[in-house]
Amino acid sequence: MTKKQVYNFAPGPAMLPRPVMKKAQEEFLDWNGTGMSVMEVSHRSKEFIALAQESEADLREILGIPANYKVLFLQGGASSQFAMVPMNLLQGGKSADYIVTGSWSSKAYKEAQRHGKVRVAATSKEQNYMTIPDRGAWQLDKDAAYVYICSNETIGGVEFQEVPDVGPAPLVADLTSHALSRPVDVSKFGLIIAGSQKNIGPAGLAIVIIRDDLIGKESERLPSLLDYAHMVANESMSNTPPTFSWYIAALVFKWIKAEGGLKVMEQRAIQRSGKLYAAIDASGFYKNPVDKPYRSRMNVPFTLPDEKLDAKFLSEAKAAGLEALKGHRSVGGMRASIYNAMPMEGVDALIDFMRDFEKRHG
Ligand SMILES: *Cc1c(COP(=O)(O)O)cnc(C)c1O
Repeated sequence: MTKKQVYNFAPGPAMLPRPVMKKAQEEFLDWNGTGMSVMEVSHRSKEFIALAQESEADLREILGIPANYKVLFLQGGASSQFAMVPMNLLQGGKSADYIVTGSWSSKAYKEAQRHGKVRVAATSKEQNYMTIPDRGAWQLDKDAAYVYICSNETIGGVEFQEVPDVGPAPLVADLTSHALSRPVDVSKFGLIIAGSQKNIGPAGLAIVIIRDDLIGKESERLPSLLDYAHMVANESMSNTPPTFSWYIAALVFKWIKAEGGLKVMEQRAIQRSGKLYAAIDASGFYKNPVDKPYRSRMNVPFTLPDEKLDAKFLSEAKAAGLEALKGHRSVGGMRASIYNAMPMEGVDALIDFMRDFEKRHG
């Protein structure tokens, strides 16, 4: 029985590449000739250790991660990193600078307040988080332990298009919802956070890329599982890692390599988002409120002229196979999340549906 084509616009957990899901299905009961499912195999088996090592090598290749950076595959999602970052990097007396550009950087800032001295060095709160404050207006502390940004605000749909120069302090960035959607110069960061369930794999994993010199600052007082130095020393296997999520992430890395890498992912993201924003801007019915230079290629929020149409839009979209378009409860309206796995046909189907809906209700 074939089900009708569904395009899933969920912000996360989100759509994964078809070929990855097919491969996982094919080897679900017999992984790698073991006669067992990967989720039944010890994380300390030679097969799983080989997977872990190969996945790291693939990620290093895809992102061009320099040798002086370590890669961790951790549990607790991206949000645990909101605490782990200050717990590990914020040392006595020093404070950290936060650039608050939306919900996720706000959450990170609030969590960091529990663990040390932090300041807001710039915020777009007064602009309703619809832009990113000009770099020239950031009030950075030259002695800051680090400067924190969320480089793609998943809820507001606001994306840094360049890595900001923050001077000598290490730049810590939450790349969760646009990781692997474009090439990035890892050497410009001190630490990168990427939760898995947006653009990397299933939920359950957070990838952390950390520069050598930032490891082991505060080790004595930390719970070992929350200590980067401990997790580095144990190659992310101090305890049982989320093996199935890791396995799918490893398949996603292979898929990205086979498709041609991050340049190709970026071209596709530009095409998908460009087409959708153009359709929104041309309509006079739908609106995206984000300052154009900072519009996200991954998360495209939009509103209808009357909130009363929202429920109808969503139910008709669902009937047309367009899933999970409801905007975040904090902002309302709609949001189309169009990560690496979203084919152009999905965006075309959404635009066709939007035009048809506008015709009937505009
Ligand atoms: C989803 C998301 C998070 C939170 O991820 P969890 O894995 O649920 O903790 C953090 N930051 C960004 C930018 C996100 O999109």
